[in-house]
Amino acid sequence: MTSADSTSFDVLILGGGSGGYACALRSAELGLTVGLIDKDKLGGTCLHRGCIPTKALLHAAEVADSSRESAHFGVNTTLQGIDMPKVNEYRDGVVGRLYKGLQGLVKSRDVSFIEGEGKLVGPNSIEVNGTVYTGKHVVLATGSYAKSIPGLEITGNIMTSDQALNLDYVPNSVIVLGGGVIGVEFASVWKSFGSDVTIVEGLPHLVPNEDEACSKALERAYRKRGINFILGTKFASATQDANGVHVTLEDGKTLDADLLLVAIGRGPSTDGMGYEAQGVAMERGWVLVDDRLRTNVPNVYAVGDITPGLQLAHRGFQHGIFVAEEIAGMNPIMIEDINIPKVTYCEPEVASVGMTEAQAKAQFGDDVVAYEYNLGGNGKSQILGTAGFIKLVQKKDGPVIGIHMVGSRVGEQIGEAQLIVNWEATPEDVATLIHAHPTQNEAMGEAHLALAGKPLHAHA
Ligand SMILES: Cc1cc2nc3c(=O)[nH]c(=O)nc-3n(C[C@H](O)[C@H](O)[C@H](O)COP(=O)(O)OP(=O)(O)OC[C@H]3O[C@@H](n4cnc5c(N)ncnc54)[C@H](O)[C@@H]3O)c2cc1C
Repeated sequence: MTSADSTSFDVLILGGGSGGYACALRSAELGLTVGLIDKDKLGGTCLHRGCIPTKALLHAAEVADSSRESAHFGVNTTLQGIDMPKVNEYRDGVVGRLYKGLQGLVKSRDVSFIEGEGKLVGPNSIEVNGTVYTGKHVVLATGSYAKSIPGLEITGNIMTSDQALNLDYVPNSVIVLGGGVIGVEFASVWKSFGSDVTIVEGLPHLVPNEDEACSKALERAYRKRGINFILGTKFASATQDANGVHVTLEDGKTLDADLLLVAIGRGPSTDGMGYEAQGVAMERGWVLVDDRLRTNVPNVYAVGDITPGLQLAHRGFQHGIFVAEEIAGMNPIMIEDINIPKVTYCEPEVASVGMTEAQAKAQFGDDVVAYEYNLGGNGKSQILGTAGFIKLVQKKDGPVIGIHMVGSRVGEQIGEAQLIVNWEATPEDVATLIHAHPTQNEAMGEAHLALAGKPLHAHA
């Protein structure tokens, strides 16, 4: 990796995660000089502590399930156990190869990687290890951290995803605090690895930000898998001793397990970084930006998880690319958060883009049509043995404004779903296209055929 050979750049970026490095790569492509500062490894949360390592664990979990359930397909295997050090070695191999590739990309585009903790010391300057670097444009991209509940210390067997990712054993039992994306993904992995899992969620549903039909379908599937969950009940306190963790809920119920995963959301990493001192407008730690990702300080932008909204790696990529193109005067367009695709990679997967039925009804009243195509009619889903659906939300006589899916592997369908919603396609537009047989993707076609009034493998 190149070290900085200069201290002044066209674009100076604080944070080398998804948002920061995407901005660096695109800025360099556009001929701008770039300084990229990170106190840790290039790639940030997603590559080292988030998306990639968790999805590697989820893949290992899928292999365990396949092995456990193979007799159903007439293939006799025995699942002898989960070798966590070996699982971790596989995961680290994946992360390591991607990390090397990313370092190569940054180097080949002549981005100066500056290693160390940075602090904004002026509207266009950041200090790292006693050296002040300047940028005609400064991009804040310092990401997020796993939150805990006030008074609940993260130590020992009370952990966040950061520690849970590095376990070298499979716990016998786990309590997962939080039924959002990270909570249900870890619950899924541990159940597949043989743990006894209980999720505690204060809201009435798992994955509460999804369309209620998806939440309910996931709850049915988790019940079937033997994953326990307690909904609409708040956590009160937790203690730990040599026997494990002991959790009390607000209704007085107590739960015991080997460990407690705290997965209640992520807060912005902005504390002590000089943002407020330099006059950057903030709210509860978040950096406020306008619709061009500009802060209130001229030439200072913010991207990714430190800005209020969805916390997703591909939102960070979009932000980073957007800011680079904005700086280069290209007048880029931005996809709004509501139309950013989302996938939860538990078993079964949940994937969505656009408005939920409830959001659409709140905005358009009765001018909303919803249709659910059941995967029971889809050949490939039957072959895989998965249940679920693809639900479309349409503005009456208009475009499809939301697509919501549940089922094994449905995350792979999100690509077409986001094209449909973001290109404002009508059911009739999609119904003229062809979906290969037998794929799960056919279910996407079938759902649109049905809404266009010409269902094939569905009842009218
Ligand atoms: C367990 C887990 C699973 C996830 N799974 C997914 C998923 O499947 N799909 C998805 O889209 N998203 C997923 N995410 C979310 C995704 O990881 C984040 O949205 C994304 O990483 C945000 O990118 P970012 O650039 O804003 O911040 P980050 O990736 O957090 O990067 C910020 C960088 O800034 C650096 N930094 C911070 N402060 C300083 C400082 N003062 N000086 C120098 N450097 C500093 C940090 O070292 C870090 O490298 C997951 C997150 C977690 C925790």
